[in-house]
Amino acid sequence: MSDLQPTAPDPRPSALPTEQLINELQSFGVRLLDPSAGVQSRRGGAGPSDHKALTVDGRTVMVPVHTATAFDSPYVVRKPGPDGLSTVERDGVRVGRVAFPLQPRFYKMQTFDGVPYSQIAVLHGRDVLATTVLQTCIRYQSRTKTCQFCAIGQSLAAGRTVARKTPEQLAEVARAAVLLDGVKHMVMTTGTPATSDRGAAILAESAFAVKAAIDLPIQGQCEPPDDDVWFGRMKAAGIDALGMHLESVTPAVRGRIMPGKASVPMERYMQAFAAAVPVFGRGQVSTYILAGLGDTPEAILSTCETLVGLGVYPFVVPFVPISGTPLESHPAPTPAFMHAILGPLSAMLRRAGLRSGDAKAGCAKCGACSALSSYERPA
Ligand code: SF4
Repeated sequence: MSDLQPTAPDPRPSALPTEQLINELQSFGVRLLDPSAGVQSRRGGAGPSDHKALTVDGRTVMVPVHTATAFDSPYVVRKPGPDGLSTVERDGVRVGRVAFPLQPRFYKMQTFDGVPYSQIAVLHGRDVLATTVLQTCIRYQSRTKTCQFCAIGQSLAAGRTVARKTPEQLAEVARAAVLLDGVKHMVMTTGTPATSDRGAAILAESAFAVKAAIDLPIQGQCEPPDDDVWFGRMKAAGIDALGMHLESVTPAVRGRIMPGKASVPMERYMQAFAAAVPVFGRGQVSTYILAGLGDTPEAILSTCETLVGLGVYPFVVPFVPISGTPLESHPAPTPAFMHAILGPLSAMLRRAGLRSGDAKAGCAKCGACSALSSYERPA
């Protein structure tokens, strides 16, 4: 399958240690001298955005390119040479080389009912197919409730996606992405519907259709459903791994950054994690924590300790201020701030025997939005 990988050759090792270079690039973003290189960048959508995929020392990571921070970044990525590699410079000094994953072949296709495949699902990182099954969210209806970092409505308003991807469309695109582009796993996220299952039902029916079409590991992502019975239903439908994303961890920050979602208390998340791990397995349940929104490193690490104790993988990523959101002018965390979290967190994960590579599917396995998996490698 290697000839099917949508990936340019790996770049030569960079002058900075890999985890340090990734941390710096993700914190500052980069200025691209050739914006057309690589896979089309993500703008808007659920979760982190305004990124572009770059391969650094063999690791594909998402690096901000459309944010205000990125426009002023000291890092410049030059136009790729004939070997597909680009030089990264800081203040004119070469600090590394990167490659751009290539545009996937499935982007050129459309569904039987005439929707471009790229409006149904997109390539994340190197080999992840990602979709937002339901592109609307009860939390996104008003400024007082919306998660301040989220742009789920932007790509919909811009006509780059459709509001509801049907199980048939998802199955068709997933099959093509595996066969044409060697995609290895799939992330299915969803806006939160006004039902008490909080999206678990549509994730289950979508996963069932994909699994009937192609053998592809799937991570489902939703808020904790009202009833833990949904975990067994999701697993039975073909969801291999589950993400329930905390985003921030202290009450004051939760209330300020995600006033709607904070109505689901931390205690409910912890109960849901404890109920989900026996269903999906240790390390197959994860959460996404955005560092840089006000939680201290100590608060994040303390929550991570509890999560790791439950067998949950805490995927800590640097916050990216997405254009057009209420937080577009909020600073991204510094590399030193991320290092203060990712260093101790990687040691905590090593002690607990939790590894991103052991996840069957999902953000923890992909790792492209954080330097965490580079830190995981033993020193
Ligand atoms: S870590 Fe998750 S959100 Fe980030 S690129 Fe990978 S799959 Fe997408």
